[in-house]
Amino acid sequence: MKQSQLFTKTRKEAPKDEVSRNAELLIRAGYVHKEMAGVYSYLPLGLRVLNKIENIIREEMDAIGGQEVSMTALQDRMLWEKTDRWDDAKVDNWFKTKLKNGNEVGLGFTHEEAITNIMTNHISSYKDLPIYAYQIQTKFRNETRAKSGIMRGREFSMKDLYSFSATQEDLDAFYELAKQAYKNIFERAGIGEITFVTFASGGVFSKYSHEFQTLSDAGEDTIYLSRGKGIAVNKEVLNDEVLNDLGLTRDELEEVHSIETGNIFKLGTRFSAPIGLNYKDENGEQKPVIMGSYGIGPGRLMGTIVESFADDKGIVWPESVAPFKVHLIDLREKEASDALYEKLTDAGIEVLYDDRDQSAGEKFGGSDLLGMPYRVVVSGKTLASGKFEVKVRKTGEVLMLDENELLAYLKR
Ligand code: ATP
Ligand code: MG
Repeated sequence: MKQSQLFTKTRKEAPKDEVSRNAELLIRAGYVHKEMAGVYSYLPLGLRVLNKIENIIREEMDAIGGQEVSMTALQDRMLWEKTDRWDDAKVDNWFKTKLKNGNEVGLGFTHEEAITNIMTNHISSYKDLPIYAYQIQTKFRNETRAKSGIMRGREFSMKDLYSFSATQEDLDAFYELAKQAYKNIFERAGIGEITFVTFASGGVFSKYSHEFQTLSDAGEDTIYLSRGKGIAVNKEVLNDEVLNDLGLTRDELEEVHSIETGNIFKLGTRFSAPIGLNYKDENGEQKPVIMGSYGIGPGRLMGTIVESFADDKGIVWPESVAPFKVHLIDLREKEASDALYEKLTDAGIEVLYDDRDQSAGEKFGGSDLLGMPYRVVVSGKTLASGKFEVKVRKTGEVLMLDENELLAYLKR
C-alpha cells in the first residue's frame, strides 16, 4: 500500500486525556481513534492488525473443531431471567435499552444464554454431541474503569467458544485441547514466552478455571508465578489448599502484574439446566448438556502486544500480526523505489510504501512509531553502493543487501 493513499497520519504529540501507553501509541500512529473512554474505532492499519489476530484465533478454533457463528448484540430479557443474570444486582455491567413498546433489551456482554437457547433447536440426542461453536463478535460492558486503552473497552471484540458435551470426560478432554489451542494462539501472536496458564476461581462445577495471563506492568491483575513450573495462581484464589493442589510452595512464587488475555471455564449445567438444553442418552434418559466456555479478546491481545514490545521510539509488531511486513522508505529516488515496491509486492511480501514528499527525519520517525518489522531504505547513497538498507525494528540491526539478497531475506 502506498502511504500517499493512506488517510491516517502519524503525530508526535501524545493525545491529551489518554493514560494508557497502548492507546497513546496506537492513536499517535493512527491505528485507532478514541471515541470516548473505553470506546475505540479501528482505522485501516489498526484493522489489519486486529484482523490478523482474529485470523490466528479463527484458525486455532477451526483446528479443534470449532464451527463459526455470529450471534446478535441485542439480547432478550426473558432468556436472561431464566438464568438469573438479567438483574443489575446480579450483573453490574449490563448496557440496557428499550424498544418503542417499552420492553427492555440488553446489549450482550457474553453469549452463554443466547447460544444455549439456539442449541435447544439442534441438540436432542447424545448422537448430536459434542458440538463446539464460536464467534468473533462485539461485546458491550459498562466497565467501571476504562483506563487501559484498548485492553479494557466498553465495546470490544471477543472470541467466545462454547462447548456442548454429553459427558464430563468429553468436556475435560476438549478443555485440554482448547488450553493447547490457546497456547498456540499466544505463541503465534508473539507473546507465548510471557503468557502463563493461571489457576483462577472455578465456580460450582469445577474447582478452578484457567486464565492466560501475560506479564506486564500495565496489567490490572496480580498473579503468583512459578517460572520453574511455568504456571501461576491468581491472587484472588491463592491459599494453602491451592498451593497444595499444585505441589507449589510460597517461596518459589513471584508476585507479578499481568493482563488476563484469555480465559477458559467449565460451566457444567449452569446454563443448560435453567434454559432446558437436554439430550437423550443411550438409555433414552433426558440429561442436561454439559458445557464449557472459552474467551479471548483480540483487541486486548493487540493492546498487550503494544505494551509488551514498544520502545521509546514507538510500536514494535511481531511479524505475525504486523499490518505490513516491510516499511519501504523512498528518499527522493522515486523510480528505483517504485521498481522495488513492485518487485516486493509481486513476490507476495506485504509492503507499506512511504512514497510521500517528506524529509528523511520525518519518515524515519514515523516509521519507528508505526513499527513494521523491517524498514527498507532507498536513497542516492544506497543506490550508489548497489544495495538497499534494511533495518530490523526489534533489534536495530542494519543490513546492506542487493536486490536478490533482499528478496531472499524478506521471503524467509
Ligand atoms: P476482566 O477480569 O479483565 O474484566 P473478564 O474475566 O471479565 O476479564 P471474560 O468475561 O472471561 O473476562 O472475557 C473473556 C476475554 O475477553 C478476557 O480474557 C479478555 O481477553 C477479553 N475481555 C474481557 N473484558 C474485556 C474488555 N472490557 N475489553 C477488552 N477485552 C476484554
Ligand atoms: Mg470483566
